[in-house]
Amino acid sequence: MSARATAHISLQALHHNLETLSQAAGGAKILLPVKANAYGHGLKLVAKVLENHPLLWGFGVASADEAWELLEERIQKPILLLTPTDPLEASRLSARGVHLSVGSSEDLGELQRGAKVQLKINTGMNRLGVRPEGVPELLNEILTRGLALEGIYSHFASADSPDLQDAALQLERFEKIHTALCSRLEPKPLFHLSNSAGVLAFGKRAAFDLIRPGIASYGYAPDPGMTGRLELKPALTLKARIGAFQTVRAGESVSYGGLWTAQRDTLAANVQIGYGDGYPRGATGKAFMRVNGELRPVLGRICMDQCMVDVSGLELKVGDEVEVFGPGDLSASRVASWVDTIDYEILTRLERGRIGRVLLEG
Ligand SMILES: *Cc1c(COP(=O)(O)O)cnc(C)c1O
Repeated sequence: MSARATAHISLQALHHNLETLSQAAGGAKILLPVKANAYGHGLKLVAKVLENHPLLWGFGVASADEAWELLEERIQKPILLLTPTDPLEASRLSARGVHLSVGSSEDLGELQRGAKVQLKINTGMNRLGVRPEGVPELLNEILTRGLALEGIYSHFASADSPDLQDAALQLERFEKIHTALCSRLEPKPLFHLSNSAGVLAFGKRAAFDLIRPGIASYGYAPDPGMTGRLELKPALTLKARIGAFQTVRAGESVSYGGLWTAQRDTLAANVQIGYGDGYPRGATGKAFMRVNGELRPVLGRICMDQCMVDVSGLELKVGDEVEVFGPGDLSASRVASWVDTIDYEILTRLERGRIGRVLLEG
């Protein structure tokens, strides 16, 4: 494998996370969000290896392209498109069995009888969906048009917050709808509400028929404040190869702008990852990588395709791999903290065309 940088995905960690989350939600099945290239883990790889997991109900995607990719991989499990798309695309996807989210009359577009839809309810996020008071009318339209109502769902806006008042209100609104509709609809659609934060905050109470944990399935808490609620295992270890070495003399500086100057003679490794791969340039001056088990500082500016790491005193050769982040103390959360962002952004930014994805069995 000659890739400059590779994301190693642990199947064992993914299995562990799905089992842990389902258990926390009273055994609910999982609608796994695989949007944004499965949170950077590789859409095809993740879908293929988890498709037949007994806890997996299906996959959630955020764009028509992502749905098509799963279809091209001949994924047999249900696919739910979580966002609106144009009517033509909606009809095409629907003809292939993809579940479409509908939150307004317009979303029903040209859908044919039998098209699989899931009713999206706005319980407080105010991003997508019909308000609770509009549910009866839209529901009526769905049923009159002969569409197949496969699910009814909503989304938490702030279940990751220490103050759960707003989230609890959303949960109550959804519970009311569930109670009102559950016995009236035949066949009974699947009700779902919880994202990762919902599972961590409310467990079984917000589980209904399915849960939709994204970030937690990949091993991270949705917010640093929720770390440790469940024992989750980060599934991705990002490694990059050493392409060359430079001996930097005391007094010389390294990389663009000469931001870092050597106090003593330093052996610097050219590590082949940069902001063009999704490793944030803003981490300049803060970043570390793990080399032969030791945390070593990144020296000077992080460039587009490479960066320099202090490897003084270590035995290395060109082609050796350095750990950029992974499970343990050099996590995506730590990288996120250097640039004041969330774990989600560090993971989803990992460039799909430039970073290889490989499965770590076991
Ligand atoms: C992305 C998404 C999720 C998953 O959110 P996490 O915070 O990653 O658990 C669940 N539901 C919907 C509708 C989403 O868009």
